[in-house]
Amino acid sequence: MVRVLARPFSLGTAARRIQRNIEVRRGRGAVGVDTLKIGVLGTGAVGRAVGGKLMELGHDVVFGTRDVAKTMADTKPDYMGNPPFSVWIKTHPKAKLAPFADAAAHGEALVNATTGAASLKALSLAGERNLADKILIDIANPLDFSKGMPPSLIVCNTDSLGEQIQRAFPKAKVVKTLNTMTNMVMVNPDLVAEGDHDVFVSGNDAGAKAKVTEILRSFGWKRVVDLGDITTARGVEMVVPVWVQLMGTMKTPMFNFKIAR
Ligand code: NAP
Repeated sequence: MVRVLARPFSLGTAARRIQRNIEVRRGRGAVGVDTLKIGVLGTGAVGRAVGGKLMELGHDVVFGTRDVAKTMADTKPDYMGNPPFSVWIKTHPKAKLAPFADAAAHGEALVNATTGAASLKALSLAGERNLADKILIDIANPLDFSKGMPPSLIVCNTDSLGEQIQRAFPKAKVVKTLNTMTNMVMVNPDLVAEGDHDVFVSGNDAGAKAKVTEILRSFGWKRVVDLGDITTARGVEMVVPVWVQLMGTMKTPMFNFKIAR
């Protein structure tokens, strides 16, 4: 059942709700978990991993897709062999699927888990009005697979997908994060080196980055590195080809970057 929040969303109340989630996770006090309404735009492995974790933590998640009927009719595994959304949802019966615009309208905070080459298009379908004044957690990578492996970057050096999204939707509070690891590690950092490794955040809005950091901590992240404004998305997007190379060399996606000093 969809839980309707009794009072309007604000950054202050969001912070308190997320903090309570963290306290519940650490077993410190609160009896119930207050929830945020979150629109997860994307039905691939990332959308499912992040959306599934948010649901597990008690958030009210609606997944966004281009065409609900088409997504539910798709029975083929993706390019990585992951089962399609229509199979995944059978084991997550509380998950709700809607067109991008409805999922975005539902969310008090949003996640961009769409393919990087089409993220701007997907977010346009979500609707500028539905993105305004909301935290937009951007996990997408601007990868171009058109010439096969390894992929190249559609945008780099002096610009990034994170910045393109922020420019296209100036009222959204874009926070780039989690794009530098595989989806399984995003929501369960303890799977690698007992969680002793780093996740980065980039964005212009300090309050939005603080809230996203709290969400990351509720996922189990101990080391969250604030890189600075959204221009720092260039670096974390440009490091992805190194990640792809490492996956080929190590023959596993179960690793992450750790900053040693
Ligand atoms: P993906 O296959 O890269 O993206 C799937 C999503 O993109 C679907 O929801 C799909 O919409 C949407 N999409 C595809 N083409 C579109 C178009 N022309 N217009 C609008 N939307 C379109 O799935 P993913 O592997 O979960 O990755 C999601 C993002 O996270 C990507 O940017 C990826 O680079 C990044 N990332 C992935 C991983 C990972 O572990 N897979 C790790 C780090 C970062 P429909 O639902 O309508 O099909």
